[in-house]
Amino acid sequence: MLFHELNNELLIAIAGHLPQDDLKTFSFVCHKFALVAHSDVVWKERLYNHYGITYKLPTENWKDMYARKSLDPQNSKMCPHIGHVTGKILEPYATKYQQVLNWLDKNLNCTVCGANCKDTGLCLYVWKGNTRNRCKDCAYSYHKAVEGHGILIRMNVLQMYCFDCKRLLGETRGDSSEAHYVNMLLKTLTHDSEKGQQAMARRSQCMEERQLYAEHADRASVVSDGKQYYFIERIWLISWFLRLCDGKIGTGPIANHELEDPEREGRLNPASRPRGNFKGGFSIVTPFLWNYLVDTYGLSGKAYTSDDTTGPEYCGLNESIVNWRLN
Ligand SMILES: [Zn+2]
Ligand SMILES: [Zn+2]
Ligand SMILES: [Zn+2]
Repeated sequence: MLFHELNNELLIAIAGHLPQDDLKTFSFVCHKFALVAHSDVVWKERLYNHYGITYKLPTENWKDMYARKSLDPQNSKMCPHIGHVTGKILEPYATKYQQVLNWLDKNLNCTVCGANCKDTGLCLYVWKGNTRNRCKDCAYSYHKAVEGHGILIRMNVLQMYCFDCKRLLGETRGDSSEAHYVNMLLKTLTHDSEKGQQAMARRSQCMEERQLYAEHADRASVVSDGKQYYFIERIWLISWFLRLCDGKIGTGPIANHELEDPEREGRLNPASRPRGNFKGGFSIVTPFLWNYLVDTYGLSGKAYTSDDTTGPEYCGLNESIVNWRLN
C-alpha cells in the first residue's frame, strides 16, 4: 500500500504518536502529510496519547489545550479520568439518578453498609456500568477493590469527585475546560426532569455564591478607600460559607439581631468584634453582597453599615477593624 492511500484518520493517529522532531520529518513526505501534520486534530490526538485528556473548551483549539495541559503534570487542574465518562456511559447512571430524586430521605441508604446518606449524599461510582448506590466510603472501597479509575457522583449536591486526582472536579481550582466538561455531563444526568434541573440550578448558585464570598466578604478591599460596608453576623456568614463548601446553599435569614446593642434598641452593639466563633461577632461585606444575601436569604434584625459607627462609643470597634489582618 502506498502512503498516499492511507486515509486521513489513520494519518492523524500516526502523527499523533510522533515526537515533535519526527513530526517535522513526517510533514516533509508530501503535501497531504504536511496538511495532516499541521492540522489541529493532531494535537487532539497527542493530548489523548500523552495525557489521556479528551476534552477542551469549545472556543479553544486543541493545540492551546495541549500547551495548558503540559503545565499540569499532577492533574490538579485537568483530570484525565473523567474523559472516560461520556454521555453514553452516563445513561444508566442518569436513569438511576432520576429514580433517586423521587425517593424519600429514609430510603437514601448505602446498599453496602446501610448507612443513611440524606445529608452526606448518596453516591454513584461511574465504572463499567455498575450503578449501585453507595456511601462515599463504600464507593472508595469499591474503587480500591476493582482498581478502577471511575468518577464519584455525589447525587444530593451534584458534585463529581476523582479518587485518583483526589479532588472535586469542575470546581474553582480546576481548569475551565474541566468545568465545562463536568457541566456538560451533569446536564446529561439532570436534564430529564424538573427536579434534576432545579438541582443543577442550585449547584450553579452555590458555585457563584462561593465566588461572591471570596471577593466580597472579610477582604481588605471591602474596607479600603473609605468605602461603605455592611456588618453581618459572623456565625451566620460562616455557616453559609461552610454549606457552600459542602455543595449546598445557605439557610434561614441573616441573624443580624445578634448584633444589636442590648441597651439601645436598633443600634449596633459597640462591644461587637470581628474575630471568634461566638454569636454577636461580625464580618464585613460589600453593599453588593449584602443586598444579594438579604434578597436571597432574608434578614432578621437590622442592617448596620460603616456609616453607623462614627460615634465615640465605636472607637474600640473601629480599631478592631483597623487591626484585623485582612487580605
Ligand atoms: Zn505518544
Ligand atoms: Zn482524575
Ligand atoms: Zn456504605
